Amino acid sequence: MSQHFDLIAIGGGSGGLAVAERAAQLGRRVALIDPGPLGGTCVNQGCVPKKVMWYAANLAQAVRDGGGFGVGAQPGAFDWPALVAGRNRFVERINNYWDGYVKHEGITHLRGLGHLVDDRTLEVDGNRYTADHIVIATGSRPLVPRMPGAELGITSDGFFALKEQPRRVAIIGGGYVGVELAGVLRALGSEVTVVALEDRVLWLFDPMVSETLGQTMEQEGVRLHLEFAVAALEQRDDGLALVPRTGEPLTGFDTVIWAVGRAPNSAGLGLDAAKVETQPNGIIKVDAYQNTNVPGIYAIGDIAGREPLTPVAVAAGRRLARRLFGDEPNLKLDYENVPTVVFSHPPVGRVGLTEPEARARYGDTLTVYETRFTPMRYALNAHGPETAMKLVCAGPEERVVGIHLIGDGVDEMLQGFAVALKMGATKADLDDTVAIHPTSAEELVTLKVPVRRPGENPGAAPGE
Ligand SMILES: Cc1cc2nc3c(=O)[nH]c(=O)nc-3n(C[C@H](O)[C@H](O)[C@H](O)COP(=O)(O)OP(=O)(O)OC[C@H]3O[C@@H](n4cnc5c(N)ncnc54)[C@H](O)[C@@H]3O)c2cc1C
Repeated sequence: MSQHFDLIAIGGGSGGLAVAERAAQLGRRVALIDPGPLGGTCVNQGCVPKKVMWYAANLAQAVRDGGGFGVGAQPGAFDWPALVAGRNRFVERINNYWDGYVKHEGITHLRGLGHLVDDRTLEVDGNRYTADHIVIATGSRPLVPRMPGAELGITSDGFFALKEQPRRVAIIGGGYVGVELAGVLRALGSEVTVVALEDRVLWLFDPMVSETLGQTMEQEGVRLHLEFAVAALEQRDDGLALVPRTGEPLTGFDTVIWAVGRAPNSAGLGLDAAKVETQPNGIIKVDAYQNTNVPGIYAIGDIAGREPLTPVAVAAGRRLARRLFGDEPNLKLDYENVPTVVFSHPPVGRVGLTEPEARARYGDTLTVYETRFTPMRYALNAHGPETAMKLVCAGPEERVVGIHLIGDGVDEMLQGFAVALKMGATKADLDDTVAIHPTSAEELVTLKVPVRRPGENPGAAPGE
C-alpha cells in the first residue's frame, strides 16, 4: 500500500525545501524526495561554495593592495587544499542543518531519486507514494555541448571538486558562471583565459556593465577571446587546446571549464507518464501560479526556466505553499524587477531594465544618468578597478526602471535600491535622500546631469 501526503516535493534544493517547509508549517503532511545531501545546487555546487572562494579571492587582493596603505602583508603561496577543506566543512554544516531542520518540521525525507508513475503517484527506490499536490523542483545541471573532445573539459561541478589549484585555465563561456570562476582563479594566482561566442562578457547585462567588467578583467590579467567559437578540445603535448571553428587554436591549458549554460533536470522524471508538458529544451511549462498543464502538479525553480536564482526558487516555493494551504488563493511570485548580483571581480549588480531594454519599452522618454570613479578603497594604490553606475529613468516623472552597478561593494549595495525601484521610486526620491558619506553608494543619490535626456538620439555624436 502506498503512503499518502498532502504535498510531495521532488528535489531538496532551494525550491523544494522552501515549498516543503512552508506547507509543513501550515500543518500539512509533507514529504521531500532527494538523494541528498540536502540543499541542492546552491549549497553544494553553487552560491555557497562559490561565495566562500570569492571571499578567499578578495582577501588575496587585499593582501596585494595592503602595501599602499602601509599594511605590510606579503602575498605568499596560496593553500588551495586548505581553502577547499574549510569550504567543504562549511557546506557540510549547512547540509546537516537542513537534515535536522527537515526532521524538526516533521517533513518526511525520502532518500533517492523520484519519478512520477501517474499524476498522483511517485516512486522512490521501488516504494510508491501518493499526494494531492506534487511539486517538481529538480533544478538544472551544467551543459556540455557535443563536440570532439568535450569530455576533456570539466564543469562548475568539477571546479568545486578540484583538489589542486589549476595553473593554466581556459573557461569557455562569458556568462555569470564563467566570469565568476575567472575572477576567483585569477585573484588566487592562476593564469586564466576566457573565451565566449558573444562580443562581450555578461551580454545579458547593461552594455556599460559588461564593457567595464571586460576591461577590468583584462587589466587584472585575464585573457579574453570574444567571438571565439570552440569546435573541439584536444589533448596535445603541451596540454589541452581549444580548437576554434576558424583561426588559431589556444593551447597549453591544464584545465578547461565549460560554463556554457545549464540544462533542466527533467529526464527520467516520468513526465510522460503523468502527461506533464515541457518545452523542447526540457523546461517544464508553467503558468504565473507555477501550475503545470496537469492539475495538482507544479514546477518551481530552475526546472521552470525563469530567473534561475536561489531566492527566486525559494520565493516561488513559499508562495505556492501559501496559495495551496494558506487561504491566499491568488498568491504568486512577481518575476518583474528581480535583483541579481554577479560575484565577479569586481561584482556586478542589476535590477530592472537595461538601457536597450528600457529604450525598446519606453522609447524616447528615457533619461539616463551615469557615473564612473575610482573608489576610495584604491585611493592609495597605484591603480584599482573603477566603479561605474547607471540609473535608467522613464517618463517625465523620471521613474527609476533600471539600476546597473559594477564595483567594490555593489553586491551589498543593490538590495536596498531594489526595494526603492520596486516601490516605484523616481529620480527625485533618490535626490531627496541624504547621502551617506564617504561611500560609493552615495553616488546613486547625488547623480546630477543626465548623460541622455528625453528625446535625445543615443547614437548621435556630440554637436550633431
Ligand atoms: C556555480 C553556480 C553559482 C551560483 N551562484 C548563485 C548565486 O550566487 N546566487 C543565486 O541566487 N543563485 C546562484 N546559482 C543558481 C542557484 O544555485 C539555482 O538557481 C538554485 O539552486 C535553483 O534551485 P532549485 O530548487 O530549482 O534546484 P536545486 O537547488 O538545484 O535543487 C534540485 C535538487 O533536486 C534533486 N533532484 C534532481 N532530480 C531528482 C529526482 N529525480 N528525484 C529527487 N531529487 C532530484 C537534486 O539532487 C537537487 O538536490 C548558482 C548556480 C551555479 C551552478
